[in-house]
Amino acid sequence: MIPISNIAVEKERNEKENWRTILSRSRISRESLFQRLGLDNNCTSASAADCSEQNAESLFPLVVPEPYLQKIQVGNLNDPLLLQVLPQTKEFLNVNGFIEEPLAEQDFSPVPGLIHKYKSRVLLIATQSCAIHCRYCFRRNFPYSDHRNSQESWQLSLDYIAKHEEINEVILSGGDPLVMSDKALNRLITQVDEIKHIRRIRIHTRLLPALPQRVTNELLDIFKNRRCRLIVVSHCNHAQELGEDVANALARLHSQGIQLLNQSVLLKGVNDDARALATLSESLWELNVQPYYLHLLDKVSGAAHFDIGEQEAHKIYKCLLALLPGFLVPKLVLESPGERSKTPVSL
Ligand code: SF4
Repeated sequence: MIPISNIAVEKERNEKENWRTILSRSRISRESLFQRLGLDNNCTSASAADCSEQNAESLFPLVVPEPYLQKIQVGNLNDPLLLQVLPQTKEFLNVNGFIEEPLAEQDFSPVPGLIHKYKSRVLLIATQSCAIHCRYCFRRNFPYSDHRNSQESWQLSLDYIAKHEEINEVILSGGDPLVMSDKALNRLITQVDEIKHIRRIRIHTRLLPALPQRVTNELLDIFKNRRCRLIVVSHCNHAQELGEDVANALARLHSQGIQLLNQSVLLKGVNDDARALATLSESLWELNVQPYYLHLLDKVSGAAHFDIGEQEAHKIYKCLLALLPGFLVPKLVLESPGERSKTPVSL
């Protein structure tokens, strides 16, 4: 376990380090994660979290960057942030209804690297990399290498968008688009911005809570002076993810006039509690972020232990409605393959 004084050193090092250096150290072993958090490597302590299991890393590698790691409570195997990244033996369970690709996104991919499910907007798979691996991710089994492997595939995506004038919004997703280099991201945003019928570019990212150092002056320059309106959609699931570093990053984006939204996933053991969700919404609002969506879990194999079921979700959501003013309540939605929009969950 790292002594408290060394945690302070790590924090200071983080503040000075380039985001790319931090990113390069984010692939860690179970042993070092447990050691860093002062947890029992043999998992003998009683816990609702189940034992972390090294082999589950073979299903989806353990990736967690230092700024996120610092927000996990030392010694707590049930920490809501730890549970989102911790490989567990439960991931090997075969649970009815949980499948490799629950959203069948490949059926809606007219050209590699592009998903066109909803009439006016398309999703660009900008990269296959993420700064953090969320164990519940519906794209944890996505065959990225079939989708974004050459300059030619970029051109095919851009040509498709240019030909379809009904598209007015492009969503950069992944992976996480903000792990791209400044040069590559700038080129992509510029190319999309040049397509006259595109009015909005939306960037879906988990880097704000995971690696807020990514919000550099250079990134803000890339976002500046675009013809299209830029929207950054953050992915935070718990208020504990919103430290001072995250608040600074959000403030810098907000100061550039960028619209900030947040989406969360309802996860057992993490945020399946109306008060935790209300605190998240209140905290986001203080940071100029509008709560947008609360997703029911997409039923991807390996993530069944995060499922709370629809009835429980209804109960939690009803409580949430009673705790918050309407404008702070994210929409409860689920995604079904073939539907022309997200489906609002009716109570
Ligand atoms: S950052 Fe996003 S795409 Fe990457 S693992 Fe997490 S939820 Fe999935």
